[in-house]
Amino acid sequence: MSLSRNSDLHMHSTASDGGYSPTELMEKCHQANLKFVALTDHDTVNGIEEAKQTAHRLGFILIPGIELSTKASGQSVHMLGYGIDWKNDTLKRRLDRQQDIRKQRLEQILLKLKAAGVPLEQDAVLRYADGGAIGRPHVAKALMDKGYVRSVQEAFEHHLAEGRPCYVKRQEYISVEQAIAWIHQAGGVAIVAHPGYYDLDDQLIGWVREYGLDGIEVYHRDHSREVVAHYEQLCKRMEAETGRRLLRTGGSDFHHESYGRTAAPLGTTRIPDQLTYELLHDLERKKTRA
Ligand code: AMP
Ligand code: ZN
Ligand code: FE
Ligand code: FE
Repeated sequence: MSLSRNSDLHMHSTASDGGYSPTELMEKCHQANLKFVALTDHDTVNGIEEAKQTAHRLGFILIPGIELSTKASGQSVHMLGYGIDWKNDTLKRRLDRQQDIRKQRLEQILLKLKAAGVPLEQDAVLRYADGGAIGRPHVAKALMDKGYVRSVQEAFEHHLAEGRPCYVKRQEYISVEQAIAWIHQAGGVAIVAHPGYYDLDDQLIGWVREYGLDGIEVYHRDHSREVVAHYEQLCKRMEAETGRRLLRTGGSDFHHESYGRTAAPLGTTRIPDQLTYELLHDLERKKTRA
């Protein structure tokens, strides 16, 4: 069994709310000596082609990925998709709709910011989004630019985080079931992202049984040792109860050294390559069955 840990299967580029272009991000992965990388931008696959080409040039494997935003029982749940066909027309159409919803939400956030005495022009935010999937970190950067806050973190704490005055729920969310179906229909496997952020452990087994969830992001920069042990155990328990083998994945959720829920350099969170081999093996099997 391979003992090397040169995989990072969760990160964001400027195609969504990351701070580096797909090319720059892949160069950073190369510098960090990563061998297996997945780009998992929020609700978009627009960075994948460029990342794939750069990874190929630099000599490591880029797995096409995505992180879909969903809601379950009122909680924000992210669903990772790996090995998706990023050129699939149905998927692209579905994602375009998600971009429209993100744009509408921005308009509502701007109204709330205005009422809170920290007005922003829409263009100031769009400049940071640069044509990519609009997210709250772009709003945070524009607030920083204006001198309203000193950091992205402060923008979230004062204004944008869930429960803060300028938080806006999207008008529409896809469900966990839909997200899994979209990923499967695009040829990928679906993994629930950072379950340590939610209070939904009891529902996971139902997602495996009823919707075909393929695995769990056991390892994540924000999962403590205890949380990792907890999800390792939960995976085993669910495997015993369902008779299905589950994938375990993980990664840094890197956005930028200076922001992201926790700021850390790329390459700090690495997972065993063995887990990536199992993921790739599953994807290969899916392809031969299709
Ligand atoms: P959105 O897709 O607009 O809901 O924004 C979600 C992104 O905002 C996450 O992927 C993180 O990058 C960032 N984020 C969410 N909550 C926080 C927080 N409390 N502090 C800093 N960044 C956050
Ligand atoms: Zn993000
Ligand atoms: Fe996430
Ligand atoms: Fe993420």
